[in-house]
Amino acid sequence: MNRLSFYDCSGQDGKDNKKAFSRLPSPLRLVIEQTQTKIQQIVEQYNPGRKIQPTSGFRSPVTNARHAGEVDSLHLFGFARDFRIFSDEPMPFNVPDFMVCLKSKGCWHVAYKRGI
Ligand SMILES: [Zn+2]
Repeated sequence: MNRLSFYDCSGQDGKDNKKAFSRLPSPLRLVIEQTQTKIQQIVEQYNPGRKIQPTSGFRSPVTNARHAGEVDSLHLFGFARDFRIFSDEPMPFNVPDFMVCLKSKGCWHVAYKRGI
């Protein structure tokens, strides 16, 4: 996965996200990179043959607000990743029990379940 896709999957949010990401302590950046990579790998592994196009990962507070994200969105911590919904593939992605895949604002929102 290319580095930009951790936080700027479709190129629309690069400015705010890049700045916010670079301000984080390096161990936290590493955790976010690994988490985003793992979510992508799980979606690919559990959905062979499907079209998989990430649109959003880690978000800065500014970007999250611009996209009307939840105040406590897991995107703020890099623990959620959105994927494009293709009209010929209307079903949610298959994910393991410790994750969720929800339709949210025109995307598939894939995240770790809260509280586990
Ligand atoms: Zn999302």
